[in-house]
Amino acid sequence: MQYFNSNTVLYLNGQFQKATNTTADIYGQSLHYGYAVFEGIRAYNTHNGTRVFKAREHFERLKRSAELVHIPFNWDVNDLIKQTYRLLELNNLKNAYIRPLIFCSPNMSLIGGTKPSIMICAWEWGAYLGNEQLKVCISSYERPNPKSTQIEAKVSGNYVNSILATTEAKSKGFDEALLLDMNQNIAEAPGANVFIEKNGKLFTPPLGNILPGITRATVIELCRILDIEVIEKHLTVTDLKHADSAFFCGTASEIAGIASIDEYKFPIRWVDTIGATIQRTYKCLVLEKQNYEVII
Ligand code: PMP
Repeated sequence: MQYFNSNTVLYLNGQFQKATNTTADIYGQSLHYGYAVFEGIRAYNTHNGTRVFKAREHFERLKRSAELVHIPFNWDVNDLIKQTYRLLELNNLKNAYIRPLIFCSPNMSLIGGTKPSIMICAWEWGAYLGNEQLKVCISSYERPNPKSTQIEAKVSGNYVNSILATTEAKSKGFDEALLLDMNQNIAEAPGANVFIEKNGKLFTPPLGNILPGITRATVIELCRILDIEVIEKHLTVTDLKHADSAFFCGTASEIAGIASIDEYKFPIRWVDTIGATIQRTYKCLVLEKQNYEVII
């Protein structure tokens, strides 16, 4: 996968510059300790032009992530949104994945928060988990205990846990992992939230031990509009293995159907699931094909 070429421009601390001319400091605290926060955003080529989906929600979460780990956030969210649109224009990108990253200056101590920089780059990226239903396994790794890190912040260091879980799943022949929390309840995937369907209702783990996904919130809103009941509650592996269907949701993966968990195959054909309805509706929403209430 090539993320940039000799023409690619990125945004760094108020300036647009060539990606090939940009360097990162080898003594940076972020590189050594994973002390950085980031976002993953998508832009879609809609009939109203290129639209960054939920831009404000993503940059507000970036701000909250920084604040939760004591990285000063001295940028204006409106300006960052404006610069993101400019970045897409400069790179001639219409459908894109956008990656803002806030990283810290050289500092080998463990006291954080000095002289942060902001970088935003973008590239074309297909559905992160592909378009087929996924073979998923329950990971031997748990999501970090919220008392050991800021689990609701999108902190780079937290993603070592995600890399371990996905690598393990793939090495066992699965497409993706599903991680439990420290209480052995279902938490989330390495880079997506999870919903399960049972008897015509959707269930999803509550906030607290997971990343508060923007897609998760969008799915809940869509269900409200479509009159589908969603229940936020702790779910066990047994709940999951008695479910009718399940799906992951996230900005990169969008809505991704799950075929099986470990040896358990979901009984309903994907096309007949609530997840498939949400998948179609989500696509229409991001492409602005229908106006599902102006609020979402
Ligand atoms: N959980 C984790 C651990 C993630 O990395 C992501 C992707 N940001 C999500 C859930 C989904 O979040 P969102 O819908 O905001 O992309």
